[in-house]
Amino acid sequence: MRLSRYFLPVLKEDPKEAQIVSHRYMLRAGMIKQQAAGIYSWLPLGYRVLRRIEQIVHEEQQRAGHIPLLMPTLQPADLWRESGRYDDYGQEMLRIRDRHERDMLYGPTNEEMITDIFRSHVSSYKDLPLTLYHIQWKFRDEVRPRFGVMRGREFLMKDGYNFDVDRAAALHAYNRHMVSYLRTYERMGLTAIPMRAASGPIGGDNTHEFLVLANTGESEVFYDDRVTALKLGQREIDYDDRAQVASVCEEFTTLYARTDETHDAAAFEQIPEAHRKVGRGIEVGQIFYFGTKYSEAMGATVVTKEGTRVPVEMGSHGIGVSRLLGAIIEASHDDKGIIWPEGVTPFPVGIVNLKQGDVATDAACAGLEKALVARGLEPLYDDREERAGAKFATMDLIGLPWRITVGPRGLANGMVELTSRRTGESEEMRPEAAVDRIAQIYAAHA
Ligand code: ATP
Ligand code: MG
Repeated sequence: MRLSRYFLPVLKEDPKEAQIVSHRYMLRAGMIKQQAAGIYSWLPLGYRVLRRIEQIVHEEQQRAGHIPLLMPTLQPADLWRESGRYDDYGQEMLRIRDRHERDMLYGPTNEEMITDIFRSHVSSYKDLPLTLYHIQWKFRDEVRPRFGVMRGREFLMKDGYNFDVDRAAALHAYNRHMVSYLRTYERMGLTAIPMRAASGPIGGDNTHEFLVLANTGESEVFYDDRVTALKLGQREIDYDDRAQVASVCEEFTTLYARTDETHDAAAFEQIPEAHRKVGRGIEVGQIFYFGTKYSEAMGATVVTKEGTRVPVEMGSHGIGVSRLLGAIIEASHDDKGIIWPEGVTPFPVGIVNLKQGDVATDAACAGLEKALVARGLEPLYDDREERAGAKFATMDLIGLPWRITVGPRGLANGMVELTSRRTGESEEMRPEAAVDRIAQIYAAHA
């Protein structure tokens, strides 16, 4: 992509309305535009990151055996009357009446609708286990939308629902979600800690939230700091292996980590003082096992192997896809701008031409661009007639993890410069070597 032809409306000034760094940088980097309180347009750069995050979520869900579908944003109120939540949900639900006076709502979540799909088509244990999920816009009329995409009213969520024949199978589905979430967040360069949570309007008693530590987070968290060193890494997971999946969950949930809602002061005191930490966190996901709450209310049953008919065991599992952009920036930035982890960056590398219009630098940049595209690594090439300082400032702000700088002096010796956004370190090398290096780096993140 050539920057001269792209749409990147970068702001020079800090927007007054932004209270936290991620919101400030998303506005300044031309990623989003607010259209109403808590409702945003996703401008091209923001949209690219959103799509990257969605893609990782899809890949990890499908790796765990979960099946994508797509449900609508608008739902009939009658489904929610069946579960009893139409009245319970309160003012966060956006209620709409259509021209035929039918009560509709903009979905804040989809337990009722997925249960309706299930009961229409499944009636035997032979069709289980089954986990269906989608990535779809939600609406919650939050009292105080704020912090940009972190607490929006319209926001993108991955929500998945498991259907199982008994409690043991449903708990395996719960564990499978926990492990797949750990892998999802790690691929995004995040440390998200599973913390025991209290259940909200979704209901259920087995539930964990995933929190990214950040001092701008809305939740107060209490934890043993050794939990932040746990990594899933590249280990092989067999998602059908109940014992293996359960042991990974145990590994990640044994050290103390709770939000203020479930905090247990006495247990916290047991942690050696050097490891006892109080901080703040951003909730980027939550998993619930709630059993037969919806299946009983809505008549979603299956015939067991023994021939008896039982309500299906369920759970629901959410990832805050749009909130993750904010969370990643809160966790990865400096005073010049964003620093995207390789896993989610909008472009793998930027090219800066220090002397636009010079035959040699123009040709070298075009050559680099072509070579990178051929390797499936589309660069953002700053081909504008701008000062070097302005080009560097834009690249630093939008946070591409790698930059190749092409100038007449280096090129006279056949060299370009490869710079890491994170460390600021630069290395001179031949253009082909820079392309190889970038390809190697991203191969490790594929
Ligand atoms: P919160 O406690 O932050 O209001 P929640 O617990 O009500 O969130 P869930 O029902 O657990 O939200 O939704 C799953 C995920 O969706 C959350 O973990 C969060 O990452 C994301 N999410 C929830 N509400 C919002 C929002 N208003 N804006 C952006 N993302 C949100
Ligand atoms: Mg939650």
